[in-house]
Amino acid sequence: MSDMPEVASSAREVVVLGAGIAGLCAAYRLRDLNVEVVDSASWLGGRTRSIRFAGGMWANLGAQYLSADKTAVIDLADELGMELVPNGFEEAAERGRGALTPEQSRDLEAAIARIEAEQANPRDPTSPELDDVAFAKWLEGEPDHVLRFLDQWCATVVCVSSAETSLYGALRLWGDQRRAAFTNEPVRRSNRGDTVIVNGTQRLSEALAGASGATLSLETRAVSVVPRRNRYEVTVEGRDGRRTIDASQVVVALPAPVAARVVQGLPDWKRDALLAVRYGRFLCTPIRIAPIGEGRASFPMTWSRPRQVYNSNEFALRTPGDMDREGGCFHSFVYDAYARQIWNDEDHTIRTGVVRALLDAHPRYEGRVREVHVARWEHGLPAYSPGRMKFQPALEASIGGIHFCGDYVFCANTDGAVRSAEVAARRVLGA
Ligand SMILES: Cc1cc2nc3c(=O)[nH]c(=O)nc-3n(C[C@H](O)[C@H](O)[C@H](O)COP(=O)(O)OP(=O)(O)OC[C@H]3O[C@@H](n4cnc5c(N)ncnc54)[C@H](O)[C@@H]3O)c2cc1C
Repeated sequence: MSDMPEVASSAREVVVLGAGIAGLCAAYRLRDLNVEVVDSASWLGGRTRSIRFAGGMWANLGAQYLSADKTAVIDLADELGMELVPNGFEEAAERGRGALTPEQSRDLEAAIARIEAEQANPRDPTSPELDDVAFAKWLEGEPDHVLRFLDQWCATVVCVSSAETSLYGALRLWGDQRRAAFTNEPVRRSNRGDTVIVNGTQRLSEALAGASGATLSLETRAVSVVPRRNRYEVTVEGRDGRRTIDASQVVVALPAPVAARVVQGLPDWKRDALLAVRYGRFLCTPIRIAPIGEGRASFPMTWSRPRQVYNSNEFALRTPGDMDREGGCFHSFVYDAYARQIWNDEDHTIRTGVVRALLDAHPRYEGRVREVHVARWEHGLPAYSPGRMKFQPALEASIGGIHFCGDYVFCANTDGAVRSAEVAARRVLGA
């Protein structure tokens, strides 16, 4: 029993649990209904969070950029009048392809030909040869540099290692597919190329929230959803205490394991599916760099782990613009393998470690590092773990008037989150 005070209950047509881009997109598509959105965090947008440093410089703490194939989210950004600009870096650079020698590149091309041959041989995604085999196992025997490259590639697309990605997952993520492994249908692409949202990805979430007209309750945790006579009793806990909302339908846009905990009375097959989704962690350390004219100042360094990787992306991701003239921000982070190692370390050691790594790679920024922010994402990105495809129909299923959405349902990115939210909203409207 909670010792929080009970406050009055209310009634809504729809309650949306989770104000990430999925929950907010669902609320926006349901804007003609009486909707309340609740989120335990103090900000809107979940993993699309952005921050502003002193002086107006912004950085994305979560979702970084929209590759040209993320047309659902790009269309949504256009619909809401967002300003998109070229992202200013190459996906290929981020993945380290340029660092390979010609001989190593030939080995990689041979491995890619193997991947593409598998993609040209359509099979049931749940078959043991595809779903139960780890990509790292399937790659056994490839030269070390190929294994390392493809392991890093897995981290860049789904945050986790090739050992935690199934062969089917790798086939689905490689190349143009991204939404299914075995499709010859051309993938629609935005003609603007890869872009970022000016002032940060969170602007899109905020615009969705504003345009939805929904009641927004931040710092309000979803405690339980209990079916009651064809309606749902949603219990939430906020600063003012605990209250219940009586809802006709519920959109659950929470991370999968949280959804399994909150929604009561789920059939075992649905609960097992939600609990089977494994997330890789991200630890993000955006670094603000002063313009050249601003004068030099040394960043307060303490100590850090020796031989630790504090940056996974070669400092390739950065805010667009001229770093020397205007200043800017390196969107530094580490993927799951390294995030786990330093997860519980004190922030000052993480700041020190990442600044050392930046200055080792780019000594020209000595004296220009002004601030480093530290953000930990426990539910960074859902993985295509071995065995995951067997749960796919269960993950997509609604249970009565409870509809599930988020980036674990279709694709592990903003586009997947938006697509799943649009399906959830259509189901609400269809009911
Ligand atoms: C570092 C990083 C980089 C990324 N880069 C990209 C990129 O470049 N491009 C791209 O497309 N995608 C990227 N992604 C992925 C993208 O951010 C996510 O796929 C997307 O934002 C997920 O949205 P969502 O609404 O499904 O989940 P979330 O944003 O996680 O929303 C879930 C919400 O539920 C809330 N919540 C949790 N528990 C409770 C509770 N008990 N009660 C109430 N609320 C609760 C959370 O606070 C959160 O707001 C990145 C993610 C990270 C972390």
